[in-house]
Amino acid sequence: MSDKTITILHLYSNDMNIYGDRGNVLCLKCRLEWCGYTPEVIEYNQGDQFPSDVDIIVGGGGQDSGQDKIKSDLQKIGPKLRELADNNVPMLMICGLYQLFGKFFKTADGEIIKGIGLLDIETYGKSERLIGNIITHSEQFGDIVGYENHSGQTFLGNGVQTLGRVRLGAGNNAVDVSEGARYKNVIGSYLHGSLLPKNPDIADFLIEQAVKNRYNEVVSNNIDDGLTRLARKVALKLPR
Ligand code: GLN
Repeated sequence: MSDKTITILHLYSNDMNIYGDRGNVLCLKCRLEWCGYTPEVIEYNQGDQFPSDVDIIVGGGGQDSGQDKIKSDLQKIGPKLRELADNNVPMLMICGLYQLFGKFFKTADGEIIKGIGLLDIETYGKSERLIGNIITHSEQFGDIVGYENHSGQTFLGNGVQTLGRVRLGAGNNAVDVSEGARYKNVIGSYLHGSLLPKNPDIADFLIEQAVKNRYNEVVSNNIDDGLTRLARKVALKLPR
């Protein structure tokens, strides 16, 4: 294996990790190896020391109770996360952590869980959950397939761009057709699935940015994604 290490930080792996979101970390790990890099995964949970050097940060979804559990620790590391985002560190935040990377999540019970405001988004919990298979489309990544299950409905401000436009399902909210958000190399999305194994172009984007930042080089990627392409074909035909 190469002596070129890429460090993945898995945020709140104990409490924010549902519907297979850990698969995003496994996917990055495998693809990094297949491209000749040595992946190192660090799990970060409440009270841990935030590592001094990270290349990719990944976070998953969680119950409202999980979000409540991590909220104060997240405030402590918020300034560091914002600094890393401004320095172009690639990040992927799914559902529960996507919401808390925004300004706040007001739960369906009326509790306000403060976010870190890294993304210019606001989330309001509703009594009806948005659940099912989802397909969106992005100019950069093509069709994005996954599964969503959330009570929170997210609305984007001017400081972020949409990740994709919804073709099947709900996405950020039940009002417009936006799904997810982009700020620099930070991607937020409601898509579980896991997202990256089903949408390897997004995984490769995160890897390319990390390798560019760390080693100032272009990734040579000869991964055979034949089986993944077949699985995507099936996923694109699934009912909601
Ligand atoms: N608890 C949040 C909501 O219901 C996030 C859910 C999730 O991460 N799947 O909106």
